[in-house]
Amino acid sequence: MISDVLEARVRPQVDVRALEAEYGARNYKPLDVVIARGEGVWLWDVEGRRYLDCLSAYSAVNQGHCHPRIVAALTDQAQRLTLTSRAFRNDQLGLFYEEICQLTGSHSVLPMNTGVEAVESALKVARKWGYEVKGVTPGAAEIIVCAGNFHGRTLSVVGFSTDPTSTGGFGPFTPGFRIVPFGDAAALEAAITPNTVAVLIEPIQGEAGVIIPPAGYLAAVRAACTRHDVILILDEVQTGLGRTGKLLAEEHEGVEADLTLVGKALSGGVYPVSAVLSNKEVLGVLRPGEHGSTFGGNPLACAVARMALKVLVEEGMVENAAFQGARMMAGLAEIGGGAIRDVRGRGLMIAVELRPEAGGARRYCEALQARGLLCKETHDHTIRIAPPLVITGGEVDWALEQFAAVLG
Ligand SMILES: *Cc1c(COP(=O)(O)O)cnc(C)c1O
Repeated sequence: MISDVLEARVRPQVDVRALEAEYGARNYKPLDVVIARGEGVWLWDVEGRRYLDCLSAYSAVNQGHCHPRIVAALTDQAQRLTLTSRAFRNDQLGLFYEEICQLTGSHSVLPMNTGVEAVESALKVARKWGYEVKGVTPGAAEIIVCAGNFHGRTLSVVGFSTDPTSTGGFGPFTPGFRIVPFGDAAALEAAITPNTVAVLIEPIQGEAGVIIPPAGYLAAVRAACTRHDVILILDEVQTGLGRTGKLLAEEHEGVEADLTLVGKALSGGVYPVSAVLSNKEVLGVLRPGEHGSTFGGNPLACAVARMALKVLVEEGMVENAAFQGARMMAGLAEIGGGAIRDVRGRGLMIAVELRPEAGGARRYCEALQARGLLCKETHDHTIRIAPPLVITGGEVDWALEQFAAVLG
Protein backbone atom coordinates (compact mmCIF):
# COMPACT_ATOMS: atom_id res chain seq x y z
CA MET A 1 0.00 0.00 0.00
CA ILE A 2 2.81 2.37 0.91
CA SER A 3 4.53 1.65 -2.39
CA ASP A 4 1.26 2.45 -4.21
CA VAL A 5 1.12 5.80 -2.47
CA LEU A 6 4.72 6.36 -3.34
CA GLU A 7 4.50 5.45 -6.98
CA ALA A 8 1.88 8.12 -7.43
CA ARG A 9 4.23 10.75 -6.00
CA VAL A 10 7.77 9.70 -6.84
CA ARG A 11 9.01 8.52 -10.22
CA PRO A 12 9.80 4.81 -9.89
CA GLN A 13 13.46 3.75 -10.00
CA VAL A 14 14.56 7.24 -9.03
CA ASP A 15 17.21 7.52 -6.34
CA VAL A 16 16.09 10.55 -4.35
CA ARG A 17 19.35 10.52 -2.38
CA ALA A 18 21.33 10.95 -5.59
CA LEU A 19 19.06 13.79 -6.71
CA GLU A 20 19.59 15.60 -3.42
CA ALA A 21 23.33 15.13 -3.68
CA GLU A 22 23.41 16.38 -7.24
CA TYR A 23 21.11 19.40 -7.01
CA GLY A 24 20.77 20.38 -3.36
CA ALA A 25 22.70 22.76 -1.14
CA ARG A 26 24.65 20.67 1.36
CA ASN A 27 23.57 22.51 4.50
CA TYR A 28 22.10 19.41 6.20
CA LYS A 29 23.39 15.93 6.99
CA PRO A 30 20.21 13.92 7.56
CA LEU A 31 19.96 10.40 8.91
CA ASP A 32 19.83 8.07 5.95
CA VAL A 33 16.09 7.48 5.88
CA VAL A 34 13.58 8.67 3.26
CA ILE A 35 10.19 9.35 4.84
CA ALA A 36 7.05 9.01 2.76
CA ARG A 37 4.20 9.18 5.26
CA GLY A 38 3.34 10.21 8.82
CA GLU A 39 0.48 9.69 11.23
CA GLY A 40 0.49 10.69 14.91
CA VAL A 41 3.82 9.69 16.44
CA TRP A 42 4.66 7.35 13.53
CA LEU A 43 6.58 7.79 10.29
CA TRP A 44 6.96 5.34 7.40
CA ASP A 45 9.91 5.25 5.00
CA VAL A 46 9.75 4.53 1.28
CA GLU A 47 10.23 0.82 1.95
CA GLY A 48 7.27 0.80 4.33
CA ARG A 49 9.33 0.50 7.55
CA ARG A 50 7.73 2.20 10.55
CA TYR A 51 9.52 4.53 12.97
CA LEU A 52 8.56 6.36 16.13
CA ASP A 53 9.43 10.02 15.57
CA CYS A 54 11.51 11.27 18.51
CA LEU A 55 12.26 14.66 16.97
CA SER A 56 8.84 15.97 15.87
CA ALA A 57 10.56 18.25 13.34
CA TYR A 58 12.26 20.12 16.19
CA SER A 59 8.92 20.34 18.04
CA ALA A 60 6.92 21.70 15.11
CA VAL A 61 4.79 18.55 15.03
CA ASN A 62 3.71 18.56 18.69
CA GLN A 63 0.13 17.68 17.67
CA GLY A 64 1.32 14.57 15.75
CA HIS A 65 1.86 14.06 12.04
CA CYS A 66 -1.04 14.90 9.75
CA HIS A 67 -3.44 15.58 12.59
CA PRO A 68 -6.80 15.01 10.85
CA ARG A 69 -8.50 18.13 12.27
CA ILE A 70 -5.56 20.37 11.32
CA VAL A 71 -5.34 18.85 7.84
CA ALA A 72 -9.10 19.37 7.45
CA ALA A 73 -8.74 23.03 8.48
CA LEU A 74 -5.93 23.40 5.95
CA THR A 75 -7.74 21.83 3.00
CA ASP A 76 -10.99 23.56 3.88
CA GLN A 77 -9.41 27.00 4.01
CA ALA A 78 -7.21 26.29 0.97
CA GLN A 79 -10.34 25.86 -1.12
CA ARG A 80 -11.86 29.16 0.03
CA LEU A 81 -9.01 31.68 0.33
CA THR A 82 -5.25 31.41 0.89
CA LEU A 83 -3.68 34.84 0.63
CA THR A 84 -4.80 38.43 0.32
CA SER A 85 -1.69 40.15 1.70
CA ARG A 86 -2.32 42.58 4.52
CA ALA A 87 -3.32 45.23 2.00
CA PHE A 88 -6.84 43.81 2.47
CA ARG A 89 -8.46 42.26 5.55
CA ASN A 90 -9.31 38.56 5.69
CA ASP A 91 -12.01 36.85 7.73
CA GLN A 92 -9.59 34.62 9.75
CA LEU A 93 -7.02 37.03 11.19
CA GLY A 94 -9.18 38.64 13.87
CA LEU A 95 -10.37 35.24 15.08
CA PHE A 96 -6.77 33.99 15.29
CA TYR A 97 -5.78 37.11 17.28
CA GLU A 98 -8.62 36.70 19.75
CA GLU A 99 -8.10 32.97 20.27
CA ILE A 100 -4.33 33.08 20.78
CA CYS A 101 -4.58 36.11 23.09
CA GLN A 102 -7.24 34.46 25.22
CA LEU A 103 -5.28 31.22 25.39
CA THR A 104 -1.94 32.80 26.32
CA GLY A 105 -3.15 35.85 28.24
CA SER A 106 -1.54 38.21 25.72
CA HIS A 107 -2.74 41.68 24.74
CA SER A 108 -1.68 41.88 21.13
CA VAL A 109 -0.15 39.81 18.36
CA LEU A 110 2.18 40.30 15.39
CA PRO A 111 1.80 37.38 12.97
CA MET A 112 4.82 36.20 10.96
CA ASN A 113 5.81 32.94 9.26
CA THR A 114 9.04 31.30 10.43
CA GLY A 115 10.44 31.30 13.94
CA VAL A 116 13.41 33.47 13.08
CA GLU A 117 11.08 36.10 11.63
CA ALA A 118 9.34 36.30 14.99
CA VAL A 119 12.76 36.79 16.60
CA GLU A 120 13.81 39.48 14.09
CA SER A 121 10.47 41.24 14.54
CA ALA A 122 10.83 41.26 18.33
CA LEU A 123 14.35 42.70 18.08
CA LYS A 124 13.13 45.47 15.77
CA VAL A 125 10.18 46.30 18.00
CA ALA A 126 12.36 46.27 21.14
CA ARG A 127 14.81 48.75 19.59
CA LYS A 128 11.99 51.05 18.50
CA TRP A 129 10.43 50.86 21.96
CA GLY A 130 13.84 51.70 23.45
CA TYR A 131 14.15 54.87 21.38
CA GLU A 132 10.55 56.03 21.51
CA VAL A 133 9.46 55.01 25.01
CA LYS A 134 12.56 54.41 27.15
CA GLY A 135 14.43 57.35 25.61
CA VAL A 136 17.66 55.58 24.63
CA THR A 137 20.05 57.68 22.52
CA PRO A 138 19.26 57.05 18.82
CA GLY A 139 21.45 54.28 17.39
CA ALA A 140 22.78 53.15 20.79
CA ALA A 141 20.32 50.39 21.74
CA GLU A 142 21.79 47.22 23.22
CA ILE A 143 20.16 43.79 23.49
CA ILE A 144 21.44 41.10 25.83
CA VAL A 145 21.48 37.46 24.70
CA CYS A 146 22.92 34.27 26.19
CA ALA A 147 25.88 32.12 25.23
CA GLY A 148 24.74 28.88 23.63
CA ASN A 149 21.63 30.51 22.19
CA PHE A 150 19.76 29.34 19.12
CA HIS A 151 17.27 31.81 17.67
CA GLY A 152 17.38 30.95 13.96
CA ARG A 153 19.50 31.57 10.90
CA THR A 154 19.18 35.11 9.54
CA LEU A 155 22.27 37.34 9.47
CA SER A 156 21.33 39.44 12.49
CA VAL A 157 20.41 36.39 14.52
CA VAL A 158 23.47 34.24 13.72
CA GLY A 159 25.55 37.34 14.41
CA PHE A 160 25.04 36.83 18.15
CA SER A 161 25.37 33.05 18.09
CA THR A 162 28.33 31.58 20.00
CA ASP A 163 28.43 28.50 17.76
CA PRO A 164 31.30 28.92 15.28
CA THR A 165 29.54 26.64 12.75
CA SER A 166 26.64 29.11 12.63
CA THR A 167 28.77 32.26 12.34
CA GLY A 168 31.87 31.22 10.40
CA GLY A 169 32.20 32.98 7.06
CA PHE A 170 28.99 35.00 7.38
CA GLY A 171 30.20 38.31 8.87
CA PRO A 172 30.08 41.26 9.23
CA PHE A 173 27.17 41.15 11.64
CA THR A 174 24.60 43.53 13.09
CA PRO A 175 26.03 45.43 16.09
CA GLY A 176 24.20 46.10 19.36
CA PHE A 177 24.20 42.69 21.06
CA ARG A 178 25.93 41.63 24.29
CA ILE A 179 26.42 37.99 25.19
CA VAL A 180 26.26 36.76 28.82
CA PRO A 181 26.43 33.22 30.26
CA PHE A 182 23.12 31.30 30.28
CA GLY A 183 21.68 30.53 33.71
CA ASP A 184 23.50 33.34 35.58
CA ALA A 185 21.00 36.09 36.45
CA ALA A 186 23.60 38.19 38.30
CA ALA A 187 25.89 38.27 35.25
CA LEU A 188 22.93 39.24 33.11
CA GLU A 189 21.91 42.07 35.41
CA ALA A 190 25.51 43.31 35.56
CA ALA A 191 25.52 43.59 31.75
CA ILE A 192 22.49 45.93 31.71
CA THR A 193 23.39 49.54 30.87
CA PRO A 194 21.21 52.63 30.38
CA ASN A 195 21.19 51.70 26.67
CA THR A 196 19.85 48.17 27.21
CA VAL A 197 16.42 47.82 25.64
CA ALA A 198 15.84 44.07 25.82
CA VAL A 199 16.96 40.67 27.00
CA LEU A 200 16.35 37.73 24.64
CA ILE A 201 16.45 34.21 26.08
CA GLU A 202 15.17 30.68 25.58
CA PRO A 203 13.50 29.37 28.79
CA ILE A 204 15.31 26.09 28.07
CA GLN A 205 18.09 26.07 25.47
CA GLY A 206 16.91 23.48 22.95
CA GLU A 207 19.55 23.33 20.24
CA ALA A 208 22.31 23.69 22.83
CA GLY A 209 21.21 20.27 24.13
CA VAL A 210 18.15 20.86 26.33
CA ILE A 211 19.99 23.03 28.85
CA ILE A 212 17.71 23.81 31.80
CA PRO A 213 18.73 26.90 33.80
CA PRO A 214 18.87 26.77 37.62
CA ALA A 215 15.53 27.12 39.44
CA GLY A 216 14.66 30.76 39.97
CA TYR A 217 16.69 31.99 36.98
CA LEU A 218 13.78 33.15 34.81
CA ALA A 219 12.12 34.84 37.76
CA ALA A 220 15.38 36.63 38.64
CA VAL A 221 15.83 37.75 35.01
CA ARG A 222 12.23 38.98 34.98
CA ALA A 223 12.84 40.98 38.15
CA ALA A 224 16.06 42.48 36.76
CA CYS A 225 14.30 43.49 33.54
CA THR A 226 11.51 45.15 35.50
CA ARG A 227 13.99 46.97 37.78
CA HIS A 228 15.93 48.42 34.83
CA ASP A 229 13.00 49.02 32.47
CA VAL A 230 14.19 46.44 29.96
CA ILE A 231 11.93 44.29 27.75
CA LEU A 232 12.06 40.56 28.48
CA ILE A 233 11.73 38.58 25.25
CA LEU A 234 11.25 34.84 25.73
CA ASP A 235 11.87 32.74 22.64
CA GLU A 236 9.36 29.92 23.09
CA VAL A 237 9.50 28.83 19.46
CA GLN A 238 10.66 25.39 20.65
CA THR A 239 9.66 25.27 24.33
CA GLY A 240 6.18 26.68 23.72
CA LEU A 241 2.82 25.14 22.94
CA GLY A 242 2.88 22.18 25.29
CA ARG A 243 6.36 20.77 24.70
CA THR A 244 7.53 21.13 28.32
CA GLY A 245 4.23 20.05 29.89
CA LYS A 246 2.87 23.60 30.18
CA LEU A 247 1.39 25.69 27.37
CA LEU A 248 4.40 28.03 27.71
CA ALA A 249 7.61 27.11 29.53
CA GLU A 250 7.57 30.48 31.34
CA GLU A 251 4.67 29.10 33.42
CA HIS A 252 7.04 26.71 35.22
CA GLU A 253 8.42 29.76 37.04
CA GLY A 254 5.29 31.89 37.05
CA VAL A 255 6.99 34.45 34.80
CA GLU A 256 5.40 36.70 32.20
CA ALA A 257 7.54 37.94 29.36
CA ASP A 258 6.90 41.30 27.69
CA LEU A 259 7.26 39.62 24.29
CA THR A 260 6.78 35.87 23.84
CA LEU A 261 7.77 34.27 20.54
CA VAL A 262 5.97 31.21 19.24
CA GLY A 263 6.27 29.30 15.97
CA LYS A 264 6.92 25.69 15.01
CA ALA A 265 3.93 23.89 16.64
CA LEU A 266 1.73 26.96 16.12
CA SER A 267 0.68 25.21 12.90
CA GLY A 268 1.09 21.61 14.06
CA GLY A 269 3.83 21.34 11.45
CA VAL A 270 1.71 21.73 8.36
CA TYR A 271 2.59 25.29 7.40
CA PRO A 272 5.04 27.97 8.67
CA VAL A 273 3.26 30.19 11.19
CA SER A 274 4.90 32.26 13.92
CA ALA A 275 3.88 35.12 16.14
CA VAL A 276 5.14 37.77 18.53
CA LEU A 277 2.83 37.88 21.54
CA SER A 278 2.93 41.09 23.53
CA ASN A 279 2.03 41.50 27.17
CA LYS A 280 3.01 45.13 27.50
CA GLU A 281 1.99 47.60 24.88
CA VAL A 282 5.39 47.14 23.24
CA LEU A 283 3.88 46.24 19.87
CA GLY A 284 2.08 49.57 19.99
CA VAL A 285 5.24 51.33 18.75
CA LEU A 286 4.63 49.88 15.27
CA ARG A 287 2.66 52.11 12.95
CA PRO A 288 1.36 51.33 9.45
CA GLY A 289 4.13 50.62 6.96
CA GLU A 290 6.94 50.21 9.50
CA HIS A 291 7.03 46.41 9.48
CA GLY A 292 5.33 43.69 7.49
CA SER A 293 5.26 40.37 5.69
CA THR A 294 3.44 39.32 2.52
CA PHE A 295 2.42 35.97 3.99
CA GLY A 296 2.23 36.96 7.69
CA GLY A 297 -1.32 36.61 9.00
CA ASN A 298 -2.67 35.08 5.80
CA PRO A 299 -6.03 33.30 6.09
CA LEU A 300 -4.59 29.83 5.45
CA ALA A 301 -2.02 30.30 8.22
CA CYS A 302 -4.67 31.67 10.58
CA ALA A 303 -7.13 28.84 9.94
CA VAL A 304 -4.40 26.25 10.47
CA ALA A 305 -3.04 27.92 13.62
CA ARG A 306 -6.52 28.27 15.11
CA MET A 307 -7.09 24.53 14.74
CA ALA A 308 -3.55 23.64 15.87
CA LEU A 309 -4.18 25.55 19.14
CA LYS A 310 -7.66 24.12 19.51
CA VAL A 311 -6.58 20.46 19.29
CA LEU A 312 -3.63 21.09 21.61
CA VAL A 313 -6.06 22.21 24.31
CA GLU A 314 -9.15 20.11 23.55
CA GLU A 315 -7.23 16.86 23.22
CA GLY A 316 -5.25 17.30 26.43
CA MET A 317 -1.85 17.31 24.74
CA VAL A 318 -0.22 19.69 27.23
CA GLU A 319 -1.19 17.47 30.18
CA ASN A 320 -0.13 14.38 28.23
CA ALA A 321 3.31 15.93 27.62
CA ALA A 322 3.77 16.39 31.39
CA PHE A 323 2.53 12.87 32.18
CA GLN A 324 4.33 10.90 29.45
CA GLY A 325 7.43 13.06 29.81
CA ALA A 326 7.73 12.05 33.46
CA ARG A 327 7.26 8.40 32.47
CA MET A 328 9.94 8.67 29.76
CA MET A 329 12.43 10.43 32.06
CA ALA A 330 11.93 7.91 34.86
CA GLY A 331 12.42 5.03 32.41
CA LEU A 332 15.55 6.56 30.93
CA ALA A 333 16.99 7.21 34.40
CA GLU A 334 16.41 3.53 35.21
CA ILE A 335 18.47 2.40 32.22
CA GLY A 336 21.43 4.11 33.91
CA GLY A 337 24.94 2.73 33.43
CA GLY A 338 26.10 1.90 29.93
CA ALA A 339 26.58 4.84 27.61
CA ILE A 340 24.42 7.33 29.54
CA ARG A 341 25.98 10.15 31.54
CA ASP A 342 22.95 12.35 32.21
CA VAL A 343 19.21 12.43 31.53
CA ARG A 344 17.50 15.80 31.72
CA GLY A 345 14.34 17.41 30.47
CA ARG A 346 10.99 18.93 31.16
CA GLY A 347 7.78 17.44 29.82
CA LEU A 348 8.58 15.79 26.50
CA MET A 349 11.66 17.94 25.86
CA ILE A 350 14.30 15.45 26.93
CA ALA A 351 18.01 14.93 26.33
CA VAL A 352 20.20 11.94 27.01
CA GLU A 353 23.82 12.95 27.32
CA LEU A 354 26.28 10.18 26.56
CA ARG A 355 29.65 9.59 28.17
CA PRO A 356 32.42 11.18 26.10
CA GLU A 357 34.07 7.74 25.78
CA ALA A 358 30.86 6.33 24.21
CA GLY A 359 32.15 7.54 20.85
CA GLY A 360 29.55 10.11 19.79
CA ALA A 361 25.77 10.13 19.58
CA ARG A 362 25.49 9.65 15.81
CA ARG A 363 26.09 5.90 15.84
CA TYR A 364 23.60 5.44 18.67
CA CYS A 365 21.02 7.29 16.59
CA GLU A 366 21.76 4.89 13.74
CA ALA A 367 21.36 1.90 16.06
CA LEU A 368 18.04 3.32 17.29
CA GLN A 369 16.96 3.81 13.68
CA ALA A 370 17.55 0.11 13.03
CA ARG A 371 15.12 -0.58 15.91
CA GLY A 372 12.45 1.77 14.60
CA LEU A 373 13.18 4.98 16.47
CA LEU A 374 14.16 8.20 14.74
CA CYS A 375 16.30 10.41 16.99
CA LYS A 376 18.62 13.28 16.23
CA GLU A 377 21.90 13.94 17.94
CA THR A 378 22.63 17.48 19.00
CA HIS A 379 26.31 18.35 19.19
CA ASP A 380 28.45 15.23 19.53
CA HIS A 381 27.29 13.55 22.71
CA THR A 382 23.62 14.34 23.20
CA ILE A 383 20.51 12.58 21.89
CA ARG A 384 17.34 14.61 21.94
CA ILE A 385 14.06 12.84 22.69
CA ALA A 386 11.01 14.90 21.77
CA PRO A 387 8.16 12.80 20.34
CA PRO A 388 4.81 14.33 19.37
CA LEU A 389 2.71 15.14 22.45
CA VAL A 390 0.07 12.56 21.49
CA ILE A 391 2.34 9.65 22.48
CA THR A 392 0.68 6.96 24.62
CA GLY A 393 2.04 5.13 27.67
CA GLY A 394 2.40 1.95 25.62
CA GLU A 395 4.43 3.79 23.00
CA VAL A 396 6.66 5.33 25.68
CA ASP A 397 7.30 1.86 27.12
CA TRP A 398 8.11 0.46 23.69
CA ALA A 399 10.55 3.34 23.06
CA LEU A 400 12.18 2.71 26.46
CA GLU A 401 12.79 -0.94 25.52
CA GLN A 402 14.65 0.21 22.43
CA PHE A 403 16.66 2.80 24.36
CA ALA A 404 17.59 0.19 26.95
CA ALA A 405 18.77 -2.22 24.23
CA VAL A 406 20.94 0.41 22.56
CA LEU A 407 22.13 2.57 25.47
CA GLY A 408 22.04 0.20 28.46
C1 LIG B 1 13.68 26.59 15.60
C2 LIG B 1 13.91 27.77 16.45
C3 LIG B 1 13.92 29.07 15.90
C4 LIG B 1 13.85 29.33 14.42
O1 LIG B 1 12.70 28.87 13.82
P1 LIG B 1 12.65 28.73 12.22
O2 LIG B 1 11.21 28.43 11.93
O3 LIG B 1 13.58 27.62 11.85
O4 LIG B 1 13.09 30.04 11.66
C5 LIG B 1 14.05 30.14 16.77
N1 LIG B 1 14.17 29.94 18.09
C6 LIG B 1 14.19 28.71 18.65
C7 LIG B 1 14.32 28.58 20.13
C8 LIG B 1 14.07 27.58 17.85
O5 LIG B 1 14.11 26.36 18.40
